Amino acid sequence: MAIPGQLNPSPRLLLGPGPCDAHPRVLAAMMTPLLGHLDPQFLAIMTETQEMLRQVFQTKNELTIPISATGSAGMETCLVNLIEPGDRAVICTAGYFGNRMVEIAGRCGAVVTVKEAPWGTVFSLDQLRDALKTTRPKVLGIVHAETSTGALQDVSQLGKLCHEFDTLLLTDCVTSLGCTPVKLDEWEIDAAFSCSQKGLSCPPGLAPVSLSPRAGEVLKKRKTKVQSWYLDLTAIQSYWGGERAYHHTAPITMVYALREGLRLVLEEGLEARFARHVRNHLALRAGLTALGLKYLAAEGNQLPQLNAVRLPEGVDDVAGRKRLLNEFGIEVGGGLGEFKGKAWRIGLMGYNSRPNCVFQALAALELVLSGAGVKVERGAGVAAAERAYAG
Ligand code: PLP
Repeated sequence: MAIPGQLNPSPRLLLGPGPCDAHPRVLAAMMTPLLGHLDPQFLAIMTETQEMLRQVFQTKNELTIPISATGSAGMETCLVNLIEPGDRAVICTAGYFGNRMVEIAGRCGAVVTVKEAPWGTVFSLDQLRDALKTTRPKVLGIVHAETSTGALQDVSQLGKLCHEFDTLLLTDCVTSLGCTPVKLDEWEIDAAFSCSQKGLSCPPGLAPVSLSPRAGEVLKKRKTKVQSWYLDLTAIQSYWGGERAYHHTAPITMVYALREGLRLVLEEGLEARFARHVRNHLALRAGLTALGLKYLAAEGNQLPQLNAVRLPEGVDDVAGRKRLLNEFGIEVGGGLGEFKGKAWRIGLMGYNSRPNCVFQALAALELVLSGAGVKVERGAGVAAAERAYAG
């Protein structure tokens, strides 16, 4: 085989469900020289990263660590550390990622009760109270921002409710962290995980995880060994925490990236960042609505960072997205599960929550939709977004 040419990917605007584009400052940080994973300078970088991660998760949790893998490993880390074979778990699913949690909890040996809601909807506190009352689980797992449907699940009162039943609350914050408020301490969340490639504007590769002292106690009192060696938080903590004992070789460059991504979040300020995501979402939503597109999630439950809309009749999913990619360099996501072939998911996450992404997406979508035979008023999407920004 001839040696392949030098890497030269085409420029893309990543407006799908993730990864989004990494911030240029993150990419610059990744070009700095490697340190050894036990170098005192790197150890200081780890401490800084953890401290900033706590601020972004809005927690004082000591056990706050970026796991060396993607968001799914964050999910697996929380479940495998908290669940011992035979433990009861209630997993709430209203989309694709809730189902992934069901699958992993089952593999951890949990006796899983699945609490289902139609895709695109969210759970009420009363529905979840019933599930807690009848099952009395050790863990209740729920997705905060369901990327497959674009729905935001309110979890602000759920931790308190779980604690009335002596249940730990586990929350998937993969698509929420860095985009919408995540308040681990105020909301009494016991275990949360996220990813690096969305709201934190880094490449994929790290999964921030945080456990409350209550969850830490449960971990300490386990009767059996954690089923996964790599994801055993007690062992990982001895590297990230006090002892600095070798566990596995940290992905140095990814930690640099995360450190820079977190610096960007804190420099901007959490409230300003959340407001920016809402502002750009409202402009995109105005434009998409003017193009005749309808959201999967009801108003009031829509994620600002992930706009999931139904494809109009007659538009071919794959052909439409191919045109967006090949002619305009824009990636959007297709539908997952029930919405496969029926929806597009447009992400405005972290660095990519910007007016120029909104206008580029709307202009390209107008051309692609009208090219597919959809009647759209020319310029209506861009004009509606402009009005939304002005108003
Ligand atoms: N949970 C949610 C809500 C997600 O959106 C994703 C990925 O997009 C995951 C979990 C899995 O994360 P990863 O693909 O980084 O493993």
